[in-house]
Amino acid sequence: MLILGVTGGIGSGKTVVTDIFSKLDIDIIDADLASRKAVFKGSSSLIKIQEKFGKDILLKDGNLNRAKLREIIFKDSNQKDWLEKLLHPQILQIIKDELEESKSLYKILVSPLLFETGQYQVCDRTLLVDVSEDKQIQRTSIRDKVPSGQVKSIIKSQLSRLEKIELADDVVSNEGSLADLEEKIKALHSSYLIYAK
Ligand code: ATP
Repeated sequence: MLILGVTGGIGSGKTVVTDIFSKLDIDIIDADLASRKAVFKGSSSLIKIQEKFGKDILLKDGNLNRAKLREIIFKDSNQKDWLEKLLHPQILQIIKDELEESKSLYKILVSPLLFETGQYQVCDRTLLVDVSEDKQIQRTSIRDKVPSGQVKSIIKSQLSRLEKIELADDVVSNEGSLADLEEKIKALHSSYLIYAK
C-alpha cells in the first residue's frame, strides 16, 4: 500500500493538486486538519497550552485563538519548540489513524511541513509542488488578500525551495496553467497506481 506525501510552500498549489487526486478517488489526509483536531476544545493539549500561555490564548467560545498563538511562536523560538514537542506526536498519531482508515488504491498525506515535522517518515514516496517565489507571493496575496511582505516572512520560516527539491522523490512544477497541472497530476497518478500494486 502506497502512502504519498504531498508538500510545497505556502500558496504553491497543494490544495489544487490534492483536489485533482481526490477527483481520481484517492483519499486525502490533511496534516493541517489533524493539527486542528489535536487542540480541540477541552482536549488535554489545549489545557496544557492554556496553562502555559494563560486564559487569553482561548477565544470566548473556549476554542484556541490560533492567530494569537501563531504570533507568540513566531516571535519566540523557545515557545515554538515547546509547542512542537507537545503537539507533533499527537498530530502524527491522528494522521496514522486516518491513514489506517483509508481504503483508496493509494493514499495521500498533504502537509505544508512534511519534511520540517518529520511527517514524511510515514510516507513511502513524496511529491513536491514547486513554484517560483514570485508566483507563490503573487497567488497567495491575491487568495488571502494580504500584503506580499507577510507572505515573504512565511516563506522564510519554511524550508527553502532548493532543500525541498533535494528531499522530494517527485517534483511537479506549478508555474503554468491549471490545465497543465491537471495533466501532469493525471500522469503521476497513473505511475502511482502501478507503484501501489
Ligand atoms: P497553503 O499552503 O497556503 O494552504 P496551497 O499550497 O494549498 O497553499 P493553493 O491554495 O492550492 O495553495 O493555491 C494558492 C492559490 O493559487 C489559490 O488561489 C489557487 O487557486 C491558485 N493557483 C494554484 N495553482 C494555480 C495555477 N496553476 N494557475 C493559477 N492559479 C493557481
